[in-house]
Amino acid sequence: MKSYRYLYGPVPSRRLRRSLGIDLVPHKICTYNCIYCQIGKTTLKTMTRRAYVPSEEILEEVKHFLKEEHLSIDYLSLSGSGEPTLHSQIGSIIEGIKAVTSIPVAVITNGSLLNLEEVRMDLLHADVILPSLDAVSSEVFSKINRPVEELSVEAVMEGLVQFRSIYKSRIWLEILFCKGVNDGEDELLRMKETIARIKPDWIHINTVVRPPSEEWVTPLSQEELEKIKGFFGDKTSIISEFDRHHLHLAEGDIKQMILKILRRRPLSFSDLSKGMGMRKDELDEYLATLLREGMIQSRRIGNSIYFEILNRKDQSF
Ligand code: SF4
Repeated sequence: MKSYRYLYGPVPSRRLRRSLGIDLVPHKICTYNCIYCQIGKTTLKTMTRRAYVPSEEILEEVKHFLKEEHLSIDYLSLSGSGEPTLHSQIGSIIEGIKAVTSIPVAVITNGSLLNLEEVRMDLLHADVILPSLDAVSSEVFSKINRPVEELSVEAVMEGLVQFRSIYKSRIWLEILFCKGVNDGEDELLRMKETIARIKPDWIHINTVVRPPSEEWVTPLSQEELEKIKGFFGDKTSIISEFDRHHLHLAEGDIKQMILKILRRRPLSFSDLSKGMGMRKDELDEYLATLLREGMIQSRRIGNSIYFEILNRKDQSF
């Protein structure tokens, strides 16, 4: 497989099945610096939108991938190493992708810029939007998302409500819970009221399952998540593990591919095996080599072991 600069995967996604990731901003530019972020600390916290990477090159890579790589994918997902709506040409990138394929386009966003009309317009042609909203009070918002100073939680909520009023396709709202941070009774009550205003098609609740940016962050138990699910009502689901038949990768530099995927986010053995379509015994050998070579490390979180890159700033892969 050719080595791509802006594409990664397909990676297993708990919501988007086999998803080809498209990285619109360099690591790690974001409007937030979430305590649970799985891709590390924000290096540039900003609200400035610009063409962080050339859109023509992204579209060229997408076209090349679709023509040359014979891998089945369920979604093309704009996400990656930061906040994708910071890319000022995300609208034309979505249109460019849709002009060459019928594979649905998803945007995984923190939703923070939806209060800007230009961002709402840019996302109108995507097939599904997956925004997050982890807090509804200023205090909890500052604690969990650590946003750029000029951003208020009221503006974020209003942006989501306004976007819903003009967007006719699917919105899957994700709320990630960290124990003792955004799971208080009052916050949950206000969250429920806000969700009723946003009217998402689904509410996906989640907790920390991958190594977080801050080590002190801890997950909710399954029982606690079930309780919140019951409280939020019908359209709420707890995000479950991805599970599909393995596909076979015909060729490619598998070690490089593993490194490239892990550079975006740490994954468990099982996630990697599913995403790469590799048998576990095969994958085990590659991981053992990468561990031996000091390229990756393993870390336990909860009951699972996660693999992560040792130096994400190394751009050589
Ligand atoms: S979790 Fe998403 S929104 Fe939060 S800091 Fe990481 S990239 Fe940004």
